[in-house]
Amino acid sequence: MTTLADPVPGGRPGDVERATALSGELAGRGVHGVVLAYVDTAGIGRVKTVPVAKLPAAAAWGVGMSPVFDTFLANDSIVTTDVLGSPDGDLRLYPDLDQLVALAGQPGWAWAPVDRITQDGERHPGCGRTFLRRIVADAERRLGVTFKAAVEIEWAVGRATAPEDGFEPAVSGPAYGAVRQVELSDCTADLLAACAAQGVDVEQIHPEYAAGQFEISVGALDPVAAADRSLLVRQTIRAVAQRHGLRVSFAPAVLAEGVGNGGHLHLSAWRGGANLHSGGQGRHGMTAEAESFTAGVLARLPALTAVTAPSPASYLRLKPSQWAGVFTAWGRETREAALRVVTGTRGLRDQAANLEVKPVDLAANPYLALGCLIAAGLDGMASSARLPEEITGDPARLAPAEAAARGVRRLPVSLSEAVAEFRGDTLLRDTLGPVLADAVTAVREGEVAAVAGLDDAQVAAAYRWRY
Ligand code: GLU
Ligand code: MG
Repeated sequence: MTTLADPVPGGRPGDVERATALSGELAGRGVHGVVLAYVDTAGIGRVKTVPVAKLPAAAAWGVGMSPVFDTFLANDSIVTTDVLGSPDGDLRLYPDLDQLVALAGQPGWAWAPVDRITQDGERHPGCGRTFLRRIVADAERRLGVTFKAAVEIEWAVGRATAPEDGFEPAVSGPAYGAVRQVELSDCTADLLAACAAQGVDVEQIHPEYAAGQFEISVGALDPVAAADRSLLVRQTIRAVAQRHGLRVSFAPAVLAEGVGNGGHLHLSAWRGGANLHSGGQGRHGMTAEAESFTAGVLARLPALTAVTAPSPASYLRLKPSQWAGVFTAWGRETREAALRVVTGTRGLRDQAANLEVKPVDLAANPYLALGCLIAAGLDGMASSARLPEEITGDPARLAPAEAAARGVRRLPVSLSEAVAEFRGDTLLRDTLGPVLADAVTAVREGEVAAVAGLDDAQVAAAYRWRY
């Protein structure tokens, strides 16, 4: 379980002693430096690193970094809000020691996700990880509800030698193909070894559909740890691939046409150790609370898209009939509905049943995405929201009148549409708080402006190697 306590100047109780012991132990294992990692509003992983001997100081006093990154765009230009984007000020990055690991794919380095607080020891209102910790802690305290989550990771493997930042798939075999598995055999075996050494419990790894595409899925954890793990796994995939002369892209659309990279989120709500998505009287074993939770997420999907699909390139991926889930609909194991109700197999359902949210990609800040999805679901639970009828098959085939009658809407087709939906969603904006909500809006609008006049191929190229 993740530490839900906020960092404090001087260190969380016990952290400095623990960091001192860890620093000695890591140094003995050949670790020289620690990567302190977070994700900005645009979904870019940002880091500071310190020598391993400075880990106790980092646990006590944090490491400085400007708050300006909260309004960085994916291309490293800066937008501003009322309070963010200025060159003034400093924040302290505090590693979560529970999540610290020696990086098997980057010998000599350890890694830890951070929370960011102000120099006065206050929560930084722009910190996504702090936001998610607060949502999760409040749900447990107020409602007795806890969550499990996992992020699926899809990526494209290209040759590092491709000219002009282009993408040349490093494998040529068919989707889900044995050929492709053999082609990337050494790299994926090293990846599995690295994940195991880092305590990452991999469920599956397989060749996916698009050119050069693979997917890895990992076991569910509490939401904060699941978001942390998503960063760690991507760091590991990148590092292992680089050692094999390969380049990876987690961009939503590596190429403008065809199937993109998803970052589907799996989420389940639990009460008193029982999974609310199984063993109930509702549809497919859902409890009434799980149905309402699902309804709450469904109702807000258009606005949530601004958080879960935050890049102009996200909308090259979000197309019908490509398993990206672009319609406001749910269905049991329906891969074209935005919400796929996963029941799990008989015998495992009490553990495995969950809600899969598909219109999410890996440009999303996973802390913001999970926090907003949970808030939407809890709002559905609080109002006993009614889950509409499920769909089967591809909603793209529904006649317009039937789709309208069933409330099946196409999700935003552009980032500007998604931002307009987000602006109109008071619950999401209030949940994020004004600083984060304004950062989301300003950064998304900045991304829209950054691609003005570009065609689809140029948009894909602009973001191809940023994530
Ligand atoms: N690549 C698809 C996407 O963009 C997902 C394929 C799958 O269902 O795993 O979401
Ligand atoms: Mg997949």
